[in-house]
Amino acid sequence: MIDSIDPAALEYLFDTLAATYGPQHWWPHQDTDNPRFEILVGSVLTQHTAWTNVERAVATLLSAGPLTAEALLAYDDLADLIRQAGPHRIKAARLRALCQWFIDCGGFAAIDQMSTDTLCAELRAIRGIGPETADAIALYACGRPRFVADAYAFRIFERVGWWQGSRRYEGLRQKIEHAAPNRDAAFFDELHALIIEHAKTRCHKQRPDCAHCALAERCARVGVRPAGFEVV
Ligand code: SF4
Repeated sequence: MIDSIDPAALEYLFDTLAATYGPQHWWPHQDTDNPRFEILVGSVLTQHTAWTNVERAVATLLSAGPLTAEALLAYDDLADLIRQAGPHRIKAARLRALCQWFIDCGGFAAIDQMSTDTLCAELRAIRGIGPETADAIALYACGRPRFVADAYAFRIFERVGWWQGSRRYEGLRQKIEHAAPNRDAAFFDELHALIIEHAKTRCHKQRPDCAHCALAERCARVGVRPAGFEVV
């Protein structure tokens, strides 16, 4: 196991991906009246679901009324409204739990007073909200400097040689944050978005396009078959 990541190496990865893909403008949202709350909703809807399906479900919710915790809790047919975003009954239950927590704790006015650790612990205590969803909310809805260690991040960091062994969420999150101790939420926001873009554009799950990858010069390509480096 690699004990720590060289901060300069993380800066290189960030700068290279930023130069390759440009600004990512995350988190994409549709509701200009309540964009922070839309991030809470989207973070649940996107679990195990393509983003295009999330966009359709959010559009349906917005056509039904205001996107607020009170409005979502009042819908008897919430599951039907989010049907386009995958397992809708499970996600409706998770959304209800998140909305109830949001109201009970006092909304963003109270959330913004919480420490990051308290916020993430409270979010993780909600049924169906795991560490990845909690950190996405903390980062994108609350502006906290938190690294979202999702499956795309593990894939890329395993291949470049920064992570080995079982995929422990907290282990990778802390390792990346320790390599960027003075970086703000804007950095982690962009880093997460760039990692997803790179995973989708070049570092595919099957047959990564190493021949055209901006990181190829410094990537160990751990676990990548030679065919992944062929020019296709
Ligand atoms: S060189 Fe290949 S394995 Fe390494 S980051 Fe690029 S696409 Fe992924």
